[in-house]
Amino acid sequence: MAAASTDTARNAATAPNAFATARPVASLWAATVAGRPAFAPLPGDRTADVVVIGGGYTGLSTARYLAKAGLVPIVLEAGRIGGGGSGRNGGVVSGKFRLGFRDIANAHGIETARYMHDLGVEAIEHVATLIEAYDIQGADYRPTGSLRCAHNEVSFAALRTEADWLRNALGDDAISVLSAEEVAAEIGAKGFVGGMLNTHGGVVHPLAFVLGLAAGLVRDGVAVHEATPVLRFRREDSGVLVETPSGTVRARQVVIATDAYSDLTGATAKVRTSVIPFRSAMIATAPLTGTAGEKLLPTGRSYTETRRMMRWFRKAGDRLLYGGRGAFGKDDSDAAFAALQTAMVQQFPELADVPVTHRWSGLVAMTLDSLPHLGRLDDRVVYCMGFNGSGVALASGIGRHVADLVTGGRPTLGLVTDTPLKAIPFYGLREPAVRVVAGWYQFLDAIGR
Ligand SMILES: Cc1cc2nc3c(=O)[nH]c(=O)nc-3n(C[C@H](O)[C@H](O)[C@H](O)COP(=O)(O)OP(=O)(O)OC[C@H]3O[C@@H](n4cnc5c(N)ncnc54)[C@H](O)[C@@H]3O)c2cc1C
Repeated sequence: MAAASTDTARNAATAPNAFATARPVASLWAATVAGRPAFAPLPGDRTADVVVIGGGYTGLSTARYLAKAGLVPIVLEAGRIGGGGSGRNGGVVSGKFRLGFRDIANAHGIETARYMHDLGVEAIEHVATLIEAYDIQGADYRPTGSLRCAHNEVSFAALRTEADWLRNALGDDAISVLSAEEVAAEIGAKGFVGGMLNTHGGVVHPLAFVLGLAAGLVRDGVAVHEATPVLRFRREDSGVLVETPSGTVRARQVVIATDAYSDLTGATAKVRTSVIPFRSAMIATAPLTGTAGEKLLPTGRSYTETRRMMRWFRKAGDRLLYGGRGAFGKDDSDAAFAALQTAMVQQFPELADVPVTHRWSGLVAMTLDSLPHLGRLDDRVVYCMGFNGSGVALASGIGRHVADLVTGGRPTLGLVTDTPLKAIPFYGLREPAVRVVAGWYQFLDAIGR
């Protein structure tokens, strides 16, 4: 894979339009992860205390804490570990929910907002705990913080108000406001009128992180099986019978941790209509050399912008990664990747002739209230999903609380546990609805509103 990418990059570098000849297909993470452990499919019939459906951050962190509580979990992953969002995301470690803390305070009170803010900070810190616990060196965690860049004065005024509120109401001293000049120095490009710096969080190699979690669990004696889709499960005696193509598992409980990939089989039909899968796409450049290499994103943070159809960027080694909305519908499209590259070059003209060597996408799970939810479907089935595109820290940190719920505790995670996952009204119309909303947002962005 790496060799093919290098060839593509070399050919593309000589072409007038680098994108025209660059046909990269795989993620940068898959191309750069050092070794990929294999996890055998479920080999026949087994018993366990808990079956965890889904081998991403949520499922694996849940299995970790179930095992720590003395139970026997078994993780069943339909595809490959990290094949969902966890192995293909941007690697931005953030404690933010899609719903802002000020909106949470306005609707639910300051104590709820404070609680959820602390939950986010705790989740960020927990990323380092997991990496250390399993010695996941390839995760390359860098606590560099993040910078939100304002694309116009209205957005900058809103950022300043938000920063004041976060500092004064929540006592968040990681937040500061940067001027246009300071943002330009941070990213090596002009065009933003100011920004909000948050020194919490950082960046990670997401695939190495999730594979390291799975490998660490296996070393600790936890069963993790790839290529094992849960086809269905049903109540039986005092527990559940879980069926897969290569065997069954009898267990006392099931945890559904399938986020945006909840429509792979009928097993998760009860939660499927509570999330809208929305495609998020990314591109990565060839290694930057010369001026571009020295000048762009020298602080190595993650960067987002304030447009409604948000785009974001970061460095990974000496490459620049640029992300945003992917194609609508079930498949990737060249047009969506080309749109990302055009936006990237508008932002960073130095990249006009730099080839894109990798491009990929995945699904994020949007919920009705823009929040993830942890709860019970009944006495034997727990769900935890709906990370709304912000799950590297939150999903990998939530396993402690999922395990608590499974073992009879009553975790209180503010709105995450106190409000249930709600079905999306008119779910059958989700694809046209997403197009209409995205089109409207793009229009507002284009006219600078
Ligand atoms: C392109 C992209 C960029 C992103 N960037 C960021 C970022 O920078 N920072 C951030 O915080 N978040 C980001 N996210 C979101 C983040 O990746 C997710 O929130 C997170 O990975 C969710 O983890 P999870 O374990 O809940 O779900 P997933 O990792 O999606 O895992 C769910 C798993 O369930 C499996 N599954 C489904 N059905 C079955 C079944 N019946 N049987 C067995 N297994 C099943 C799927 O195969 C899948 O592997 C991004 C997402 C995408 C797609």
